[in-house]
Amino acid sequence: MEEKIIQSQNLMLQVILANTSSAMKISKTLSEHSDDKIMRADNIICGLVYRLMTPMTDEEIEESMHSAEDILFNDSSSEDEDNNDELVDDIKDFEISRKVKTNNCNCNICSHTRVCLLNFNDYIPKDELGDKFKKSIIETCHKYNKII
Ligand SMILES: [Zn+2]
Repeated sequence: MEEKIIQSQNLMLQVILANTSSAMKISKTLSEHSDDKIMRADNIICGLVYRLMTPMTDEEIEESMHSAEDILFNDSSSEDEDNNDELVDDIKDFEISRKVKTNNCNCNICSHTRVCLLNFNDYIPKDELGDKFKKSIIETCHKYNKII
């Protein structure tokens, strides 16, 4: 019985990690497609919004579940691949409240991100997990003084 609980907790954790790591991938693409190629809080927020509102393809689910499994169970080996991007942001940038910035790229991911941002406030998550993600995005925005 207890083992079952632990298993389902692990699966839940894996799903959360899978979502987050997939969102980070989107954020990375958004920053790479921006003019200055810098990873900013805006890109992170946009990546999370994109992931919340856009269902993953089967391929993406499989890939993210694998990388989540790596993080959960092999703690060290694959860690340094993706975590090199430091958040480069001017602290002053957070002092004034302003709208989340997007880039001007017209590829599928970037233009779809802009559509997601426009619809974010009216979006109703489909499940409890989505609900948690939406809340955490709103909290992140408060923290960085951003408005969607
Ligand atoms: Zn793009």
